Amino acid sequence: MTQKTIFKRIIDGEIPADIVYQDDLCLAFRDINPQAPTHILVIPRKEITSVNDLADEDQTLVGHLYLVIRHLAEEHQLVSSGYRVVVNTGADGGQTVDHLHFHLLGGRSMQWPPG
Ligand code: 5GP
Repeated sequence: MTQKTIFKRIIDGEIPADIVYQDDLCLAFRDINPQAPTHILVIPRKEITSVNDLADEDQTLVGHLYLVIRHLAEEHQLVSSGYRVVVNTGADGGQTVDHLHFHLLGGRSMQWPPG
């Protein structure tokens, strides 16, 4: 059996996280190593490794994740200042946890291009 990812362990309640939102489909919690004043990870409860592993049946789920991100941006007063949503994918993308996750970053001005 493959080992659980750290995010699956958070979903299963095996390790703690600073959870800011949860529902039947997803979980949102603060990143342990924040890169901005607001740095929240939004993850599906369903085990999906990365964007590469999304199936046609995940269309509604991904839409839901974005609506949760919009809700969190509103809740954390990021709407007027702006924010960034990042989905690192694979080695070159900088993905370190093999469970699909959306970074919601805000509270400071972001640079472009990203590093
Ligand atoms: P990635 O590099 O895969 O796009 O993002 C993984 C993120 O998960 C990183 O920003 C990292 O700080 C965060 N992270 C890794 N382990 C944990 C953990 O145990 N708890 C929390 N809250 N965040 C974690």
